[in-house]
Amino acid sequence: MSQLEQRYTLRWPRARAIYEQALGSLPGGNTRTQVHVDPFPMYAERGSGARLALIDGVEVDDFLLNYSASALGHCHQAVSAAIHAGIDAGGPFGLPVPAEVLLAERLRERFTGVELVRFTNSGSEATLQAVRAARAFCGRPRIAKAEGGYHGSHDLVDVGITRFGEAPGEAIGETRGMAPEVVAGVSVFPYNDLDGALAVLEPQAEQLAGVLIEVFLNASGVIPARPEFLGGIAKWCAGHGVLLILDEVASWRTGYSGAGAEHHGLRPDLICLGKALGGGFPIGALGGRADVMAMFDPRGGSIVRHAGTFNGHPVAMSAGLAVLEALNEGAIARVNAQGQRLAEGARRIGGEHGLALTATNYGGVGRLHVAHEPPRSARAAAALPREPRIDIYRALLERGVLVSPDCRFATCTATSEEQVERFLTALAEAAPEALAQ
Ligand code: PMP
Repeated sequence: MSQLEQRYTLRWPRARAIYEQALGSLPGGNTRTQVHVDPFPMYAERGSGARLALIDGVEVDDFLLNYSASALGHCHQAVSAAIHAGIDAGGPFGLPVPAEVLLAERLRERFTGVELVRFTNSGSEATLQAVRAARAFCGRPRIAKAEGGYHGSHDLVDVGITRFGEAPGEAIGETRGMAPEVVAGVSVFPYNDLDGALAVLEPQAEQLAGVLIEVFLNASGVIPARPEFLGGIAKWCAGHGVLLILDEVASWRTGYSGAGAEHHGLRPDLICLGKALGGGFPIGALGGRADVMAMFDPRGGSIVRHAGTFNGHPVAMSAGLAVLEALNEGAIARVNAQGQRLAEGARRIGGEHGLALTATNYGGVGRLHVAHEPPRSARAAAALPREPRIDIYRALLERGVLVSPDCRFATCTATSEEQVERFLTALAEAAPEALAQ
C-alpha cells in the first residue's frame, strides 16, 4: 500500500464508514463500476457550481463533474428552475409531453445531420437503438467499432475497449456473461490508423450496417482523432453504403453543432447524444437521417420497436431545453479554453519537473497520463501504469481538487479561472509526490 493510500484511508473516515455499510448491500459496495477505487470511493454530499461538498465535510473543486456530464456545474439556476417546474408538473404520465417535441426541434436546429430524433434514458440505450436502426435500414448484420471506443454497457458494443485481439478485426467481449454470437457480429478496428482500419472494414463492406465512432476516445484516454482518420472513415462509409454512427454522447458539449460537424466537417448518418444534455438527469438521444430514423416510425407498425417507460421523461426534456440554451457558442468556447489550459499546464508541470506526467484533452474534457508523451491509441493508453495515476487522484484530493480515480478531468461553465490555477498549483505539488512513490 502506498503512503498516499494509507493517508487516504485515515483521512476520510466517513467515506470509509459508508463504504463499509455499502458492502452489505451492493456488490463490492458498488453500483457503477468505474467509480470504484481502492480502498474505498469518495462520497459526495452536495454540489454547487464547480464546488462539491464531500461526505467528510470537506469542500473541493470539482473537476470530475460526473465524468464530464455536468457541463454547467451543479445547481445551474436556469436548469434547476426547469427541473423544479418539470417535477411540479407531475408525471411522467404515459402520454407524450410538449417538451419532447420542443427538445427534438432544438436538436434538429443545432446538430448537423439530425432530421428526426428519439429519446432514451442513457447514452447506452442510444447506441443500442442506433445499431438496431442501422441494421434494419441496411439489411446487413454486422457493425464495426474502434479499439478503445466505449459506447455503453450492452452486448452490441461492449467489446474491444480494454481487451484487444491479435487478428485484425477480432472482437473480444469486455465482460463475462456476454452472448458470444453477438460479440462475433462486431469488428474492431484500430483508432487513428486509417490504413489499419480500412484493412478491417474493406473485406466485410457488404456485411456492415454501421461504423460506430467517437471524435475522441473518451473512456480510453481522451485521445483525439486525427482529422484524416475521421474524414477517411466517413468517406469510406459513404462510399460503401455503411452508416456512420457518430457517438457524441461525451463530445457534443465541446462543439456547438456537435464536435464532429464543428471540428471535422462531418455529417453523420446517425448521432448519439447523452450525458450533459439532461442537466444532471438521465437522458440519451439518437438523431439522424429521416429515412434511417423512419425505422422507428410506429405508423403502420414500427420496423424497429423502441419502448421505454421513461423515454422522453418530462423532467429530462425540460432540463435539456435549459441546457441547450445555456451551453451556447460562447460558453462552449470558454469551457474548452479552460480544459486546454489545464492540459497544457499539466504537460508543462511534467516537463519542468522531469516527470512521467502528461495530459490529453478535447476542449473541456481531459485526462492526465503517467507517461512522457501523450498516448495516441487505446492500446498505448491501456499499457500505462495504473497505480501511480490513482496516487495522483489521492494526492490531488488531499489538496482540495477532485478528478476521477483514473485522472479524468473536465471543466464546466461554473469553473473559475482561480479554480484552474488551483488545479495546476495542486498538481505541481501532488504529481512529484505521487510519482516518487
Ligand atoms: N458513449 C460514450 C462516448 C460515452 O462516453 C458513454 C458514457 N461514458 C456512453 C456512450 C454511455 O452513456 P451512458 O453512461 O449514459 O449509458
